[in-house]
Amino acid sequence: MARLVLKFGGTSVGDPERIKNVARKVKQEVDKGHQVAVVVSAMSGVTNQLVEYCRAISPLYDAREYDAVVASGEQVTTGLLAIALQEIGIGARSWQGWQLPILTDDVHAKARIQRIDTREIVRRMEESGEVAVVAGFQGLSERGRISTLGRGGSDTSAVALAAALNAERCDIYTDVDGVYTTDPRIVTKARKLARITYEEMLEMASLGAKVLQTRSVEMAMKHRVRVQVLSTFEQAAGSDLPGTLVVDEDEIVEQELVSGIAYSRDEAKITLIGVEDRPGVAASIFGPLADAAVNVDMIVQNVSEDGRTTDMTFTVGKADLARGVQVLEKAKDHLKYRKLLQDSNVVKISVIGVGMRSHAGVAQRMFKALADRGINIQVISTSEIKVSVLVAEEYTELALRALHTAYGLDQA
Ligand code: ADP
Ligand code: ASP
Ligand code: MG
Repeated sequence: MARLVLKFGGTSVGDPERIKNVARKVKQEVDKGHQVAVVVSAMSGVTNQLVEYCRAISPLYDAREYDAVVASGEQVTTGLLAIALQEIGIGARSWQGWQLPILTDDVHAKARIQRIDTREIVRRMEESGEVAVVAGFQGLSERGRISTLGRGGSDTSAVALAAALNAERCDIYTDVDGVYTTDPRIVTKARKLARITYEEMLEMASLGAKVLQTRSVEMAMKHRVRVQVLSTFEQAAGSDLPGTLVVDEDEIVEQELVSGIAYSRDEAKITLIGVEDRPGVAASIFGPLADAAVNVDMIVQNVSEDGRTTDMTFTVGKADLARGVQVLEKAKDHLKYRKLLQDSNVVKISVIGVGMRSHAGVAQRMFKALADRGINIQVISTSEIKVSVLVAEEYTELALRALHTAYGLDQA
């Protein structure tokens, strides 16, 4: 007998029939004698709709009220799943974030979980085997208001609950049957990984693979929660762990050079032409951006031809582009650049693998594969286990496929 946390994403609970299907999956685990807590997302499309409503009323909405609105999607699915479970003879009770409670900080719309009080649900699990159906994505802020964890946050709710319950595993049920070498909806030759390290999964998530929210992977890594990603819709025959397991590096037998390729369309590029080439110029550009909470990701500074002026190119989140440009235009007199260019038709493509640490030539293979397809690289950035490039958005699919082949990741 084990204690398990099962999480079901939006598509998995997309309509009443699917919720009944989820109830049957939960029942299978309960019938094996496990103690089970379930975390659910809102029905697919619901959160997007609620966000739209907020924007339609005010583009500069109050984040506390945004949270009150968007958290409601998950409330519906907890109640519906509890009813579906009761209907097939499983004792179940719904729990909202404020009821457990799941305590968070006060940073509305992207709150962090601080602590989860599991006493009551544990008591019920132990006394009668009651299934706790917990609302994902939401919590209770320090000031006693409803908070939410950022888009995709139900993954983090699930992993945090698994850590708090000391669960044997956290199963993330979704619409794909595991973590793939790249997004299987774009590259049909993508291959399912049986295992992936926490570190690689963290890079994959933060570089765009939305299959797990970045913070959920951070949380899993910190608390050593065993996470499995698997499909709600397919029953893999004969395997105990049919999905992808996120594990420590020493649990991986054969390490590939590159394990995965991620892409993100969430970035935009800014170029400042003709900035002065002198000490302190970078600080004077990036200081005001940081003050305005505009995160800068990739940066390149050109060599200066005349020793006096140079160009500076960098990327910011697409959602921050307008604000970033505004900040720089305001500071134009002081920064003394000649021209500001902006481009949001870009995509960041990254190859990721812990195998890179001990092998040379990984970046070169990337540059060559892209060059062979005539794809121009605009910006490059690297770290110990990843190489990222910025290219024109129209090349997203072509670049992903080319790289997938170049690193030998294609399915046989
Ligand atoms: P849920 O609603 O269940 O939380 P998400 O839509 O958030 O599901 O995440 C699942 C999606 O992530 C898949 O449908 C897939 O298109 C996308 N995805 C992106 N990269 C990957 C990857 N490397 N492996 C698997 N899925 C990926
Ligand atoms: N419903 C929320 C969202 O769409 C949280 C989640 O699904 O993980 O972002
Ligand atoms: Mg998700």
